[in-house]
Amino acid sequence: MKQQLEFISVSKKYGSHLALSKVSFSIRAGEHLAIVGSSGSGKSTALRLLAGFEIPDEGTIRFDEKLTSEPGVIRIAPHERGIAMVFQDLGLWPNLSVIENVILGLASIPQSKSEKAKLAHQALSICQIDELSARKPYQLSGGQQQRVALARALAAEPRWLLLDEPFSGLDLITKARLLRDISEIASIKKITVILVTHDPMEASSLCNRLIVLNDGHLQESGTFKELLEHPTSEILRVFRNQLYGVGRV
Ligand code: ADP
Ligand code: MG
Repeated sequence: MKQQLEFISVSKKYGSHLALSKVSFSIRAGEHLAIVGSSGSGKSTALRLLAGFEIPDEGTIRFDEKLTSEPGVIRIAPHERGIAMVFQDLGLWPNLSVIENVILGLASIPQSKSEKAKLAHQALSICQIDELSARKPYQLSGGQQQRVALARALAAEPRWLLLDEPFSGLDLITKARLLRDISEIASIKKITVILVTHDPMEASSLCNRLIVLNDGHLQESGTFKELLEHPTSEILRVFRNQLYGVGRV
């Protein structure tokens, strides 16, 4: 069986607005792929379709060759896809402690209460915040809150980690550390990562392959190295110019 995820000619409309138009890409197990594009280009829509939170109007989505979504139908429910997702709005419960937030993320798995607590502590250790497990989210810095959300996603040992711009509010150093740690954890745990971002620099820190969405269309795809040689999208042209200092006054 091929270990991969396939997104085949998928279109999605909201009312009369075409948010994604015949977009195709695939990801091999263990890869780190970035979906890059400016605001409104359809990135979150693509991720929500992969997760099974949205139903495609056209096209199919397959995990390991199994049909998971087809036009008008979700064949495999989100909680049965082996995915975990972290959103920009981290969705931490303010009234619960760190450890309670992570355990709550394990609600759909059958393990006992003590097994779940063990898994939660393991995930917090991997994310280097186990010593903060009794705190409430408001007692944490932005970077620590991101780590809690990440621990909650990792605790259930997902195969696919879907990240929807969760690092936007972080300073450069905290972001760089977190991206490096995610890259290491994902490699050790053999988790496939899909990162949605409007920031090509962030994408290049975690991923070696990317697709660029523009107004719901797939504009270009390939490795950073390939695409930065002759970018066709404005977002990568601007990124390349920033990297090489072109166009500075
Ligand atoms: P991105 O994540 O790249 O910023 P989105 O996938 O969120 O873009 O949105 C793509 C387009 O679809 C945008 O024009 C957005 O306004 C629209 N859109 C997204 N979600 C909905 C929705 N639930 N209802 C109507 N329009 C939506
Ligand atoms: Mg978005």
